[in-house]
Amino acid sequence: MSIKPARTRVAPSPTGHMHLGTARTALYDYLLAKKTGGQFILRIEDTDVSRTVPGTEQEIMDGLRWLGLEYDEGPDIGGAHGPYRQTDRRDIYQAHAKMLVDKGAAFPCFCTPERLEHVRQEQQKHKENPHYDGTCRNIDPAEAAHRIAAGEKHTIRFKMPHDGITIAHDHLRGDIATENKLINDYVLLKSDGLPTYHLAAMVDDHEMGITHVLRGSEWLGTFPLHVNIVRAFGWDEPIWIHLSVFLKPSGKGKLSKRDATTAIKDGYSVFVKDLHELGFTPEGVLNWMALMGWGVPEDDVMSLDQMIERFDIDSLTASPAAINFQKLDHFNGVHIRLLSTEELAARVKPIYTQAGFRVEDGTLFKVVPLIRERLVTLDDCIPFGGFFFLEDVTPDPQDLIAKGLDAKQSADVARKAHDVLAAVPEWTPAASEPPMRALVEQLGLGPNQVFGLVRVAVTGQKVSPPLFESMEVIGREKCLARIEKAIGTLESM
Ligand code: GLU
Repeated sequence: MSIKPARTRVAPSPTGHMHLGTARTALYDYLLAKKTGGQFILRIEDTDVSRTVPGTEQEIMDGLRWLGLEYDEGPDIGGAHGPYRQTDRRDIYQAHAKMLVDKGAAFPCFCTPERLEHVRQEQQKHKENPHYDGTCRNIDPAEAAHRIAAGEKHTIRFKMPHDGITIAHDHLRGDIATENKLINDYVLLKSDGLPTYHLAAMVDDHEMGITHVLRGSEWLGTFPLHVNIVRAFGWDEPIWIHLSVFLKPSGKGKLSKRDATTAIKDGYSVFVKDLHELGFTPEGVLNWMALMGWGVPEDDVMSLDQMIERFDIDSLTASPAAINFQKLDHFNGVHIRLLSTEELAARVKPIYTQAGFRVEDGTLFKVVPLIRERLVTLDDCIPFGGFFFLEDVTPDPQDLIAKGLDAKQSADVARKAHDVLAAVPEWTPAASEPPMRALVEQLGLGPNQVFGLVRVAVTGQKVSPPLFESMEVIGREKCLARIEKAIGTLESM
């Protein structure tokens, strides 16, 4: 069976940090386009100029690239259906608004904001849902043209039919029937000549040949309006897919702005840029996001290519998805362990460098296999492995005292360990571990007492990768010198 190539788009507004909702939509768009041999497009919806936040358009492009969701057409790379930034498409929207006016499907509205506010208050008083009261719906077109020519401020509104019902079909939710009288005469073109979402998105999706519109379920409310606009133009409808909403981590209630602030305090975030900075990997984030709204088993580990292989819009789900950051940790760890030593080294190197460590590749390639198992985020490379790149370490003297012993006894143990290690023929775990175990036996102590002390002495910390492997990387000379120094510390306590 041949599948028709899909053209999909993600259409974020550059009004704030790029969040998981946009990223997940982009992921599904990308998967559908790649699965069918089609194209994935980035369109910037910036017509609400007062809400535009400088820098966020770039953040969206960087975020998509970081995730590996390369778009085929977009504002910075162009394409055959551009421009891809809505403020660069004003003329297109104005021409389309005029088309609807000419067809009798839209009308110029001269109501002032003050009048509209008054109407709204009256409706509120009478417990009516706020809606346009129809004042300008039936102004004679010649009179309207005259007023426009005279420079009177106006918007263009959609002339929603008053009778009948609209059946809008969502691929996941089926037919949605709405009485037309409940649908407002929404503004399509504002008095500044810029379109609202309702006009701009419908025009662009058509002009850009979009076959599947995947978007957030917050658009379900105006979905019947959108279907009417598309039909008024006489265009074919795309396949509409309203994705599931995200719930709070507790599963109770929709995710709010406040939840985003709380998450950051806990070392998590719902913003793509933060997730990157917190040390999450694109692979982990993608896998985690993919499963929030796609009906595959929750523990499925998938690369982007495997997702393309398995993706199918019929298995997207409409049911809400709770944000579970523990699962993000899980998938991130799993994907870190799937990286080759070279890849993981390349990812952690800038983290070490930024933290001020001087990283030498030879050491780094030995460190990576030792820390890989323990990393949840890439940033964990610092607590688990930063000490490998230090010339010297300065442990907390208290940490040097072995459990159940005092400082002097600990100094004795350290001296014996030093002598055993100084005598091993080769500086490898295979050569150093057996005589050290024999020493533990001989002293009648526990391995944790002896190895713990040595660990603190040579790494400067109580938790580290496996001791003998770590000592091999640090080198004999440095290890012995550090144990000597620890003995000195213990003796002076
Ligand atoms: N600009 C809209 C938003 O950010 C896009 C919705 C859509 O994908 O159509 O919510």
